[in-house]
Amino acid sequence: MFGLIGHLSSLEHAQSVAETLGYAEFSNQGLDFWCSAPPQLVDSFHVTSITGQVIEGRYIESCFLPEMLINRRIKSAIRKVLNAMALAQKSDLNITALGGFSSVIFEEFNLKDNNQVRNVELDFNRFTTGNTHTAYIICRQIEQVSAQLGIDLASSTVAVCGATGDIGSAVCRWLEKKNDVKELLLVARNRERLDNLQAELGRGKILSLEEALPEADVIVWVTSMPKGVEISLETLKKPCLIIDGGYPKNLDSKFNHSDIYVLKGGVVEHSLDIDWKIMDIVSMDIPSRQMFACFAEAILLEFEQWHTNFSWGRNLITVDKMQLIGEASIKHGFSPLVSF
Ligand code: NDP
Repeated sequence: MFGLIGHLSSLEHAQSVAETLGYAEFSNQGLDFWCSAPPQLVDSFHVTSITGQVIEGRYIESCFLPEMLINRRIKSAIRKVLNAMALAQKSDLNITALGGFSSVIFEEFNLKDNNQVRNVELDFNRFTTGNTHTAYIICRQIEQVSAQLGIDLASSTVAVCGATGDIGSAVCRWLEKKNDVKELLLVARNRERLDNLQAELGRGKILSLEEALPEADVIVWVTSMPKGVEISLETLKKPCLIIDGGYPKNLDSKFNHSDIYVLKGGVVEHSLDIDWKIMDIVSMDIPSRQMFACFAEAILLEFEQWHTNFSWGRNLITVDKMQLIGEASIKHGFSPLVSF
């Protein structure tokens, strides 16, 4: 059995869906209440591969909210992730994906040093960040959608915002090895990490966000921002493809321009319906089939019986591993979301 640990995108979102998740008493409560709420196992479902194999899964709502980071409730955020992992392990889940901010918090606050959660000694082999599959799917989205829009990658400038992150650096490696894009722009805040990435890739131009965006034909947005940012439409190239891979969505998607295309990044569609209710809550267009690619990674690891932390640590994702999980993704009937 596999597991998915997820969270909602904001306090407002959490209040509006509390009843659907099975705890109506949370719907009028503020951040303090969510800080003290324990993780909840809220959904059980089956996933059928196109090979005919059927597996069973559970969804755990960690009750983490991005406002905990914005309002410096770091201890609560850490507790949410560790408690949800302990619940997954106690529920006998073989492999569980740490969705959205869960893996960012795990790495940022070094939670590998905290493997004792009350009477549960966490076995990190049972967890995956899901970032290898996410990075693979984002790269396939870049390739497929730019071709649909007539954007030739070999003569294009691609800006990766969050380039030094786990997903961003993997996307850069793939683009460098497979696509030979004309210009690769590396955007993040920490200069040392940017210099290291540039040295590893042997290419890439380090620019600020303000400098990079107007130059880009394709913008890949994979920063770990707890709330969205607004970018000015006027400064962008037309046409421009934006792949928004963050969760919560990093970009304020009120774009209304016929030549600016914003695609939900890191989202996959399965070929067969899944009997879950959780994707209604996170507003997927086809909730019975669409999901975050990190969740799909846990599903793939369970299908393949690869009960190991396939994606773990930071900036260790190789193109070979992306290729491997990509082959499993196709084999079991997943495809990247390529429609707007
Ligand atoms: P990391 O923490 O590894 O990387 C985050 C990157 O964003 C770093 O390069 C960081 O560099 C940069 N960054 C953070 N804040 C800013 C800022 N204000 N301006 C510019 N750059 C910034 O995160 P991951 O790679 O693990 O995840 C990235 C995003 O993807 C997250 O939003 C996560 O929730 C989402 N995600 C989506 C999944 C899906 O299935 N669709 C799956 C997993 C994650 P620096 O700090 O130096 O600025």
